[in-house]
Amino acid sequence: MRDYIKRFLIAIIMALFVSLLFLGGTHSEAAGTEEVNDINDHWIWPADGIISDTYGTRQGRHKGIDIAGRIDTPILAVEDGVVEKSYYSNTYGNVVFIKHPSHFVTVYAHLNRRNVPRGQIIKQGDVIGEMGKTGQATGTHLHFEAHQLEWRFDKKYALDPEKLLGKANVGESVQAGIASMGESVLAASSQLRLHQNDNPNISTPLDKYMVKEGDTLSTIAQKQNTTVSAVKNLNHLTSDLIKPKQILIVP
Ligand SMILES: [Zn+2]
Repeated sequence: MRDYIKRFLIAIIMALFVSLLFLGGTHSEAAGTEEVNDINDHWIWPADGIISDTYGTRQGRHKGIDIAGRIDTPILAVEDGVVEKSYYSNTYGNVVFIKHPSHFVTVYAHLNRRNVPRGQIIKQGDVIGEMGKTGQATGTHLHFEAHQLEWRFDKKYALDPEKLLGKANVGESVQAGIASMGESVLAASSQLRLHQNDNPNISTPLDKYMVKEGDTLSTIAQKQNTTVSAVKNLNHLTSDLIKPKQILIVP
């Protein structure tokens, strides 16, 4: 009899354990928000351009963000990953899907050109294609989506890309390669733009340089064959402080 009770208790404990596992499973969806915060500071904007539409518009049917720009503007991978799909669709046009180690899937649509085939391993910042207006697009723009876990036809796991790339309103300009750090990034990028426009007569062509881990202004100046003060002047820097992923204009 005791043995029977013992077995019964073991069965109950097992059942509890299994149901806890299931609870843990549903919990992982909620835990996605923590993941978002973790990657919030290192995804980069995928293209230069102006925000022309945001997430959730068109009665909630717009599940991405639109960046309008010039035809053939380079499109950058927001994070390392593997090309999951690269094909032509009647709606998306030329489209590339990238699966990231964080289990996010990003979608880059309406491309004029796709540079990467399915299965290709991608590093953050790799140029995966060029901006276009293929598929159902009225003007030249990048339609960018981010999905947690997987892309589904009903786009159930779509997330507002602003949560990952930083806040951006319609009409604001964004710059490819800039890591999300909220409003400050947009302010910084528009400052860079203003500065470039300030100097239409500049004789030497200016380049962009993304700050890497361990860089200092003097190592960058050395690499670019220029001086620290030239880099500081070009970027309106008031101190020697720079951070990884920051974009600097260099001669
Ligand atoms: Zn769109």
